[in-house]
Amino acid sequence: MKTQLASLACALLGACAASGPERPDVTLLHNARIYLGAPHWLAVEALAVSEGRVVSAGALAELERGPWNIVARLDLNGGFAAPGLQDAHGHVEGLGEALENVDLRGVTSYEELIARVVARASTLPPGEWVRGRGWDQNLWPSREFPHHAALSAATPDHPVLLERVDGHASLANALAMRAAQVDRAWSSEEEIAGGRVLLDGERRPTGVFVDTACALLERAAPRVDAAVRERRWLAAQEHLLAAGLTCVHDMGVAPATVRLLERLRDEGRLKLRLVEYLSGGGGLSSADLEGFPLAPDAFDRLCVPGVKLYADGALGSRGAALLEPYHDEAHQHGLMVTEPAELQAAIELCVSLGLQPAVHAIGDRANRVVLDCFEGAQRRYGDLRELRPRIEHAQVVAREDWPRFEALGVIASMQPTHATSDMPWAPRRLGEQRIEGAYAWRRLASEPARLAFGSDFPVERANPLEGLYAAITCAGPDGEPREGYRPDQRLSAAEALSAFTIGAARAAHQEQRRGRLLPGYFADLTVLDVDPLECAPAELLKARVLATVINGELVYAGARAH
Ligand SMILES: [Zn+2]
Repeated sequence: MKTQLASLACALLGACAASGPERPDVTLLHNARIYLGAPHWLAVEALAVSEGRVVSAGALAELERGPWNIVARLDLNGGFAAPGLQDAHGHVEGLGEALENVDLRGVTSYEELIARVVARASTLPPGEWVRGRGWDQNLWPSREFPHHAALSAATPDHPVLLERVDGHASLANALAMRAAQVDRAWSSEEEIAGGRVLLDGERRPTGVFVDTACALLERAAPRVDAAVRERRWLAAQEHLLAAGLTCVHDMGVAPATVRLLERLRDEGRLKLRLVEYLSGGGGLSSADLEGFPLAPDAFDRLCVPGVKLYADGALGSRGAALLEPYHDEAHQHGLMVTEPAELQAAIELCVSLGLQPAVHAIGDRANRVVLDCFEGAQRRYGDLRELRPRIEHAQVVAREDWPRFEALGVIASMQPTHATSDMPWAPRRLGEQRIEGAYAWRRLASEPARLAFGSDFPVERANPLEGLYAAITCAGPDGEPREGYRPDQRLSAAEALSAFTIGAARAAHQEQRRGRLLPGYFADLTVLDVDPLECAPAELLKARVLATVINGELVYAGARAH
C-alpha cells in the first residue's frame, strides 16, 4: 500500500517539477524514508531541493534523471524523515538562561532543592546570585510551598532566586529579599495587584512570590547585558536544533530582542527559523508596536506576526483564573493578570494593527474572557478568522466554550507534555467535572491538523518527541496509566505529527510553505532513527535525531545509538 502511494506521489509531484529553460542546480536528499506530511503522510525515497525549497519528491532513480544539475547530495543516514518538527510555543532566551541555571525539575524534596543550590553556590564567589528554575512543591512529600528559612541558612553568602516550574512563582532566600527590599512586615498577601506575597505567621514573606509579585525580586537581580543575551540565544539555538526542531514560535519577546535576532540573521548566525511574538500586557500602546508586524525575510528565518498577551497565571500555583473555586482550596479562584477591559483594549489594538494576538489562558474563566474579547474585537473589526487569533495553553475550557474556538477561528496552541506533567495533581485542583475540559485538545479543533502543538520550553523539555509521545499515549514516560489518562484525547501518530508540523505552521500563517515537503515548500526535515508513524510510542522516548535540515542544509548531525 505504502509503495503504491509513494509512486502515485511521484507521478503527481513529477508534474510539478521545476520547469523553464534554465536547468536549476539541486541538492538531492536521499537514503531515508521521507514522509511528505499531512494529510496523507506518503513516503518517498528522495527530494530534489533548490534554493532551499523542494522542487520534486519521489524515487531516487527518477530524481537522478530529472531536468536539473545535481550539484550536491545529502545522505540522510538510513533514517526516517518527517517535515521539520516545529514548536508552537517556547521561550528561546528563557531556555538559554535555563541552560546556565540550576535545574530543579524533578526535585522530590525541599532538602534536595537546597542541596542542588548549595552545590552551585560553592562554585560562585560570595555575593553572586544563584538562579534556578523548575521546582514543583507538588512533587515533595508535604506538597506545600516552602519557607525560605532552611534555604537561607544554607546559603548565607549568595542571593538565591528560584523560579517555579511554571514560571508563575519564585522562591527567594533572605539575601535576595533583602536586596529587593521586600523583607518587611506586609499588611496583606494581596498588596501587589495581580500577584501574591505569601506571608508567615509574623506577616513576613515566606520567600514565595506569585505572578506579578515575582517582579519585585527580578528588579533586584543583576542586569543581563547584550553579550549575555547573545550567548544565551546561541546556546539555546544549538540545543533546539539538536532536539530536531526546525522552527520555534518564541513567545513574549522585547523589540530589542528582535533587533538582536535581525543582527544574528544578517551575520548568518541564525539557523533556526523563528516566529517571534512580542511581549504585551495591559496598557499596551501603538508606540510599543511601531514597525510591527515584521514580515518574513527572503530566507524566512525571522518574522514577527503578533503579540503575546497574558490573561491569567498557572494551575500549579493556583494562579489560573477559574469560574468556580479550586477544588482543593475553597475560596481561591486564581487571578487574572490582566483585567478583562485592559485585555479587550490590548487585543483590539493588535487587531487594528494587523497583529495576531496570542493570549496566555490557562483557567476556564481566563479562556472564556479571552474568547469574549475576541468576539468583541470581531464585532468591531469584522471576522477574525483570517488573522487566526491564538489562545496559548487553552488548558481548562468549560464545555460551553469548546465550540467557540472553531466558530471564532481561534487556534488552540497546546502542550501535550503539560497534560502528562500535570496529571498527578491536576485532578485535585480541578475536581472530576472540570477535568473533562482540561488538556482536551480533540474538543477544541475539528481535526488535529488545526491544533498547534509545542512544549512551552523551558517549562517542559524542548524535545518534540516527548510531546509526540504524550499526545499519542496521554501517559507518563513509564507508560502509566496504560489506557492514557485521557483515553478519548489520544491522537494517532499521524495526527500528533500534524499538530507539530502543519498545525504549527498554520498558526503562524505559514502552511503554504512549511510543515510539508511538497514542491514549493521549504526543505526542512527532522530525521530520526525510528519511524515516527510506525514505531511503538515508547520508542519515541529513546529515539535519536540523526539530522536536522533547514532550507535543504544540514544544521545538526547526530549519531546513531549503536
Ligand atoms: Zn509560555
